[in-house]
Amino acid sequence: MISNSTISEILELTSKLLTLHDRDENRAKALGAISFTIDRLTDSIFNLDTTEIQKIRGIGKSVATSIEEIKTTGSLAELDGLIAETPEGVLELFKVKGIGVKKIKTLWKELGIDNLNELRIACENGKIAGTKGFGEKTQTSILESLVFIQAQAGKLRMDKGKELSDLVLAILVDVYPQIVVSGQIANKADVVDELCYIVPLKDFGGKKRLPDEFEEDYAESSPFAWRGNLQGNSMKIVIHFVLEKDFVSSQIIYSSEEGHLKHVSENLGQNLFTFLKNKSFSSQEEAYELFGSKFIPEELRVGLGEFELVKSTGLEELITFEDLKGTVHNHSTYSDGKHTLREMATFCKDELGLAYFGIADHSQSAAYAGGLLPATLIKQWEEIDQLNIELGPFKILKGIESDILANGSLDYENEILKEFDYVVASVHSGLNMDIEKATDRLIKAIENPYTTILGHPTGRLLLSRKGYPLDFKKIIDACAANNVVMELNASPYRLDIDWRLIPYCLEKGVKISINPDAHSTAGLLDMKYGVSVARKGGLTKAMTFNAMALSEVESFLKKA
Ligand SMILES: [Zn+2]
Ligand SMILES: [Zn+2]
Repeated sequence: MISNSTISEILELTSKLLTLHDRDENRAKALGAISFTIDRLTDSIFNLDTTEIQKIRGIGKSVATSIEEIKTTGSLAELDGLIAETPEGVLELFKVKGIGVKKIKTLWKELGIDNLNELRIACENGKIAGTKGFGEKTQTSILESLVFIQAQAGKLRMDKGKELSDLVLAILVDVYPQIVVSGQIANKADVVDELCYIVPLKDFGGKKRLPDEFEEDYAESSPFAWRGNLQGNSMKIVIHFVLEKDFVSSQIIYSSEEGHLKHVSENLGQNLFTFLKNKSFSSQEEAYELFGSKFIPEELRVGLGEFELVKSTGLEELITFEDLKGTVHNHSTYSDGKHTLREMATFCKDELGLAYFGIADHSQSAAYAGGLLPATLIKQWEEIDQLNIELGPFKILKGIESDILANGSLDYENEILKEFDYVVASVHSGLNMDIEKATDRLIKAIENPYTTILGHPTGRLLLSRKGYPLDFKKIIDACAANNVVMELNASPYRLDIDWRLIPYCLEKGVKISINPDAHSTAGLLDMKYGVSVARKGGLTKAMTFNAMALSEVESFLKKA
């Protein structure tokens, strides 16, 4: 089944390339608008027939036919034709943040730039700054984006990495039924640059031929490891072949970061790697026990004090998905969400078994995201009161995701702020401040008596936007001093605050809220990604804000 977002992407690229090649301007405009509409639809367009598709606003007969073509063939001949006419390097220019198709057209047709490398050289020579419509600022941001693109080639966010890994596994399991997933996927790394599998064999003569779509990198492969990639996909794949007797130790070795393997057991005077090498165990639990440690699950094998953590805190104290009692940073159709307040709340109640659902739609300044004006807030609160009568004892909490304005203040007058059960304060604009300004701005928001939670503190988007620079020590200290909760935004796009900063939050007594920032019911499940990385940082149930029971949350909010 083709997802709405894939259909939307195909239409969007078609629209851009029509513009790039000066073709039918009206069709380009229509496709651009419709791709946006489709991406935001609640229902899967795949299940609609052509007549139903035509009922969607803005979709005429010719676009409906194109959508039908995508649904049946997985692509669009019109787009394939346009791609064939476009140099590969020019297509790559679309990856650069902050330049749209009109600018790309200028770069290609007027400056003759047809690949990323030439664009970089032109920026470095100051040629772009001097071009009409660009300027110094755009040139700088193009250069920054180019560095980022270079660094991320062959990398995926954890959600996409898992998707690809499952796909590869489904093929490999036919060849090697005993194969297991290891490496960064097992370790739940936030960014993945290699897919790693282990195959246990009786002897190395038991290796088989892989299907044709697996392209071997002969220079990197060895009798003990197949290395390569899937045809047309730059993600590196490694398959380790091990003897059955080494299977358990290999599973620990290949799912661990180096620091974990270098941990020295006091009793044995030996590091984990040396201890495991060429030894047989019946289970991973047994291996850790003989090493003199409690069992350490894969996601904790990061080399940042996990041996001490399982000893002092105990594995059972770490947060799990099942421990979450509610969720507090979510959007609905009141702002830019896909599902209604009722749909979101009942999903939390009935499907996830949660006790509370906090709505935190966007605030008034976020006009691009349908930010709520005071009149709409009042309407929303009335609906919440009604739903709470109907759904109780389940409770919807009245929150808001308030923009932090450039000067650090929140986005409503105090008379309105005091009506919310809680406030998630987040930065969405003015992301280019230097470290001092950005830190001061956040601290001012943290010190605001109405702020409950600091939302996605760095604003980063993994593999696409670096977060703004912050003095984290100051930020976390300010949260501690003002009893403000730190968000771990659980969207795999963000995973912000970085889990490596959780230990310092815990040291300072700052609670962490694992917030999905859900814009749809499916988005609520992103809390699973948040839990995985939170465990890496040693987050306990006791210090997780939304692991508190409803009554505890309510008394926390009353005091705050
Ligand atoms: Zn936000
Ligand atoms: Zn949000």
